[in-house]
Amino acid sequence: MLYADIIVDISHENLDKTYQYRIPDSLQAEVGIGTPVYISFGNGNRRRQGYVVGLSEQPKIEEARIKEIDEVIPKGVVIESRMIALAYWMKQNFGGTMNDALRTVLSVKKSVRPMEHKRIVLAVSREKAEELLKEYAKKHYVAKARLIKELLEYQPIPREFVLGKLNVSPASLRGLEQQGIISTIVEEEYRKTTYTGETTKKQVILNAEQQNAVDVICREYEEGKRNTYLIHGVTGSGKTEVYLNVIEQMIAQKKQVIVLIPEIALTYQTVRRFSERFGERVAFLHSKLSQGERYDQYRRAKDGDIDIMIGPRSALFTPFQNLGCIVIDEEHENSYKSDVTPKYHARETAVELARMTNSCVILGSATPSLEAYQKALDGKYRLLRLTSRAKNAKLPDVEIVDLKEELKAKNRSMFSRRLAEEIEKRLENQEQIMLFLNRRGYSGSLSCRSCGKPVMCPHCSVALNLHSDQTIHCHYCGYHIPVLKECPTCGSPYLAAFGTGTQKVEEAVKKLFPNARVLRMDADTTKEKESYEKILSSFANEEADILVGTQMIVKGHDFPKVTLVGILAADLSLNVADYRASERTFQLLAQAAGRAGRAEREGKVIIQTYQPEHYSVQTAATENYTAFFEQETAYRRLMKYPPKAHILAVLCVGKDEQKTEQFCRKLADRAKQFVKEKSGEYMAVIGPAKATIAKTNDFYRNVLYIKAENYDILTELASCLENYRETEKNVILQLDFNPMGNY
Ligand code: ADP
Ligand code: ZN
Ligand code: ZN
Repeated sequence: MLYADIIVDISHENLDKTYQYRIPDSLQAEVGIGTPVYISFGNGNRRRQGYVVGLSEQPKIEEARIKEIDEVIPKGVVIESRMIALAYWMKQNFGGTMNDALRTVLSVKKSVRPMEHKRIVLAVSREKAEELLKEYAKKHYVAKARLIKELLEYQPIPREFVLGKLNVSPASLRGLEQQGIISTIVEEEYRKTTYTGETTKKQVILNAEQQNAVDVICREYEEGKRNTYLIHGVTGSGKTEVYLNVIEQMIAQKKQVIVLIPEIALTYQTVRRFSERFGERVAFLHSKLSQGERYDQYRRAKDGDIDIMIGPRSALFTPFQNLGCIVIDEEHENSYKSDVTPKYHARETAVELARMTNSCVILGSATPSLEAYQKALDGKYRLLRLTSRAKNAKLPDVEIVDLKEELKAKNRSMFSRRLAEEIEKRLENQEQIMLFLNRRGYSGSLSCRSCGKPVMCPHCSVALNLHSDQTIHCHYCGYHIPVLKECPTCGSPYLAAFGTGTQKVEEAVKKLFPNARVLRMDADTTKEKESYEKILSSFANEEADILVGTQMIVKGHDFPKVTLVGILAADLSLNVADYRASERTFQLLAQAAGRAGRAEREGKVIIQTYQPEHYSVQTAATENYTAFFEQETAYRRLMKYPPKAHILAVLCVGKDEQKTEQFCRKLADRAKQFVKEKSGEYMAVIGPAKATIAKTNDFYRNVLYIKAENYDILTELASCLENYRETEKNVILQLDFNPMGNY
């Protein structure tokens, strides 16, 4: 390696502006990705600070014009260096360019003005000011006199007050300042996202399992062991209390903590819970923050103004000086995987960041991802179990209702007879009800209304998806046929794509139970900034009897008065064309069921489904994770799906249909050749095929999947394919490792 790509000004928006410098022999051992260096920059050869973000053996410009790096800045590891090294790791492990990765990890100040706070003070002595006051009064400089009089009484005065209440014109103010009579103090203010309510030190006494989890984590930390822990705790088992207690001990040791939670769960309740414990030392990130607010939270972290950052996956890149621990709550959530390049997974990235910073990682879930649980079984993560509900509340009683029977009994409403009965009962007892509709499958698969079976791909064990041209497609292998006239399993002519919206559910509830007060929560009703919180707190305050919603309502909320949860169509998430469909269904059902009966009153859950015998439904009903895990693992092993193997999705997007297809085929050929070279390793190339959405905005999309048991080999192949990026300027290449869903 001879040359280094260097970014000169990290606070610059233009992260892709790198400059090539030669690495002198004497520094070759020291310079790597992320190394801070001094360089002579520009025509004037001004000494500037920069960071190495790339290494190469080829000069990009005329060799003679390349300058040498002056020296390595010897300050030890600074945060920027670490972030750049992390960006490199992300690029290597999740694809994309270094620039994409840098943009993700560096909290670069965008062109937003900092929020400034300007205040006016006297720049002359009191005596001089009093003299001036007399003079202005004599000359009838009313406004100026008013200002000086105010300043003699009390200073500094906010500039707005001077311009507003005191009615001094900006011109006079400038005049006074130029004459050296007053001056302006400018302070940059953080845009804080801190909770401002009360803080109470209400401590719960941990039960034995909770205490054990806290003790294990903290003891090992003190002993210098750094682990990734997976807390597998049933719904309501008090995982959050465990996090809070570990965090408390971290902070006592002057360590800082990042807490990731799924965006959707980031509500008033979470904010309040953490803030009650830790007060102003907590900051929050969420997608509705402005660019400036977000930047300021990062700055507060860097300046040591906070100890805890809570937020969705991007909070991982909080520039703490002294990180001790990263918590990922609801570790199994899809939102931890980035949907933009680099398509990193926050879990794996957190583990790498922890390694770099000598921190530990705590993952928590009632329904761990197969990936995490497998690692725990393999001893890569340490498993800690919470097997009972914290408040000694019982797990709810779950009843599975077969919708096929309802159809036979001529009940065509969305509510089975049992569910309607139970709703009636709760309304009488003034208890609350949650009705849950998983809409993910909305525009998805075709299934039989008589036997409930989805129409499957004969080659891939995934459901076929209905396209608008009345053909059904497999998104893994490209298999497609015209839409069927009858069910291949039972011959019934009632094949239909699912599609009931929450709005329809709401209408149906109102019709059937005209006296019930109903709230609805879905993407439509939560467009506005505070609408989540409004709906949730209104429900918590018992201003409604029934909350109807999508998966949004199942995440981590705690409503003690809810004694009935109805899941209207459990199959919706089973029938999506995705190898994770069963896992996703299990998670949703178990989590939704876990909302019921979280306090004294016992809870009941009714799962309506066309596939009552399906293992996802059966195991979720009893929250039997291990039974689910075993069944699902067998399927993944057989089909070589993660975590039993890894998948690399290669997506090619281009305006020209032929070129896009050709390019994808070229990559497929290269991949096939690569697979030959690696004989002895399990690898398979699937495709190329048209993507699910074969065309968007006139861009054609082709996709290729490569499966391999060895992740490193897959990243090696990815680097090979990356080299083709430059060869076809008309097609965009996107890599996605272990994708969620499909293309
Ligand atoms: P989870 O994060 O596993 O869903 P929470 O931490 O939210 O569980 O706990 C569920 C409820 O039980 C909360 O209201 C919490 O305050 C309460 N709780 C947790 N641990 C205890 C405990 N040891 N004693 C009493 N209540 C507890
Ligand atoms: Zn059928
Ligand atoms: Zn297929």
